[in-house]
Amino acid sequence: MAKANSVDAVIVGAGFSGLYLLHLLRGHGFSTRLFERGGDVGGTWYWNRYPGARCDVESMQYSYSFDEELQQDWKWPEKYSAQPDILRYIGHVADKYDLRKDITFETSVTSAHFDEAAQRWTIKTDSGETVTAQHFIMATGCISTANLPDIPGIDDFKGNTYHTGNWPHEKVDFTGQRVAVIGTGSSGIQAIPVIAEEAAHLTVFQRTPHWTVPARNVPITDEYERMWKDNYAERRANMRCSPSGSLRSIAPIDISALDVTDEERKEAYRERWAAGGMTLLKSYNDLLTSEDANETAATWVRRRIAKTVTDPAKADLLAPKSYPIGTKRLCLDTEYYETYNRDNVDLVDIASNPIDRITATGLETGGCAFEFDSIVFATGFDAMTGTLLRVDIRGRAGQTLKDKWQAGPRTYLGLMCAGFPNMYAITGPGSPSVKSNMMSSIEQHVELVSDTLVHLRDNVVATMEAEQQAEDDWTDHVQEVANQTLFPKANSWYMGANIPGKPRLFMPYIGGVGTYRKICEEIVAEGYRGFKLDGAKAGAAAAE
Ligand code: NAP
Repeated sequence: MAKANSVDAVIVGAGFSGLYLLHLLRGHGFSTRLFERGGDVGGTWYWNRYPGARCDVESMQYSYSFDEELQQDWKWPEKYSAQPDILRYIGHVADKYDLRKDITFETSVTSAHFDEAAQRWTIKTDSGETVTAQHFIMATGCISTANLPDIPGIDDFKGNTYHTGNWPHEKVDFTGQRVAVIGTGSSGIQAIPVIAEEAAHLTVFQRTPHWTVPARNVPITDEYERMWKDNYAERRANMRCSPSGSLRSIAPIDISALDVTDEERKEAYRERWAAGGMTLLKSYNDLLTSEDANETAATWVRRRIAKTVTDPAKADLLAPKSYPIGTKRLCLDTEYYETYNRDNVDLVDIASNPIDRITATGLETGGCAFEFDSIVFATGFDAMTGTLLRVDIRGRAGQTLKDKWQAGPRTYLGLMCAGFPNMYAITGPGSPSVKSNMMSSIEQHVELVSDTLVHLRDNVVATMEAEQQAEDDWTDHVQEVANQTLFPKANSWYMGANIPGKPRLFMPYIGGVGTYRKICEEIVAEGYRGFKLDGAKAGAAAAE
């Protein structure tokens, strides 16, 4: 059956946020179209199929909470689930709520223009379809546009090339191959130990060492599962008002790292290192605000690296020194440092000698030529804004989002922009998003948008839009909060620093998930303070 070309809402993206939004909006009786670039549901978990890909948030927490039956029925095999298991879960969700029938797959939205006369969005796709909608919702994720670096000769290589964020669906077999991995962020750190097991030889090209701590992933025991499932209501409620949208296995210590003895500090770091996961950064309350406090944790981790990696030159190269621990996304690994003790793994520093060129048979750096069968780019993403700006989005008076965000993203609450009525970015720049358990932030934003659309419909409001002042104040506030921390000290993708020419400013809101939720609730309770709601009067009069 042909799908409608005039609907209440167009959603872009069938990852965790788009799927939940489709489910809610449909339940509220809105007509919807959902366009997805991939061949199936899954979003980031559809594309990131590289060896070793798994989530760095515990699965009992990195899952939907909106349906008690769903969260009770689903069984996660491991504490930190692997990509295939997460994709299986998303597929199950799509089946359970019969979502695929309203999704148009393998179709990218190319443009979305706001028609001021009609007060509707006109949305075009790469398959030639045009759809109009009152509401236009980008549920396109924060790290969904892969970054392939502009290295001379990149198209000359005759072997196989891969990007971790756009991995083939069939198994890639590196057996017997000479493999290069370029990039040592979360993706590289997960892929390197697994590729090293399979390849004849692996050479890792590292520009900046990342801080990483052991995940200590384990199969989920019945006891652990019961502990979560018997207490889900209370735990999810606590997650929603927590700083990071997740609960830690070891409680944070609410004192300064500088107010305890060396021995107490070492013991706290030892305990968290042994437990695994992100808890190390929460050992003390000032690790991300005081350089001296941060350095105590950094020094301790550098010593662990030196103890683990047997070659002192490699250990030194792997130890980060140029930015505080935790100010780029902390990575979780499985046997990452141990991998560098293998005979078939080399590490090449490309900070001092950047890659000169990629050749037909490999690459050249610092006067040395390397030969490979495969090159893996683990070089990250044009994060947070890349996917939004890839679509030709135009608001009032034909203003493009690209122009509006020339100096960096400007939003109210990371959700809406002045001049772009009825356009919403789920977990957009300026919201907690990537600085939180994404599932908590996705559910909060999706529910906020869904409730808002119901409110607008009930009150016969044609358009809702951020006020300029509210947007300016929020954009400043996001920076102010970031500037109270050490985060701006790192050249991170949070700052846009990984993409040449991208404006530098801190993109996520780090005031905390619970704080942010409260702010949103207050704004709604005050009649959507900071938003302009138009058409209410006319609509209300017409309704009477
Ligand atoms: P990333 O953190 O941005 O790391 C990219 C790596 O590539 C960095 O080491 C970077 O070096 C290097 N690189 C980039 N351009 C380069 C160039 N031109 N020449 C040489 N090296 C270059 O990307 P990612 O590892 O894909 O991770 C992105 C984010 O995705 C993570 O931070 C995380 O939020 C998410 N993620 C999560 C998981 C998980 O849940 N476990 C797994 C994977 C990804 P520099 O540091 O010097 O820029």
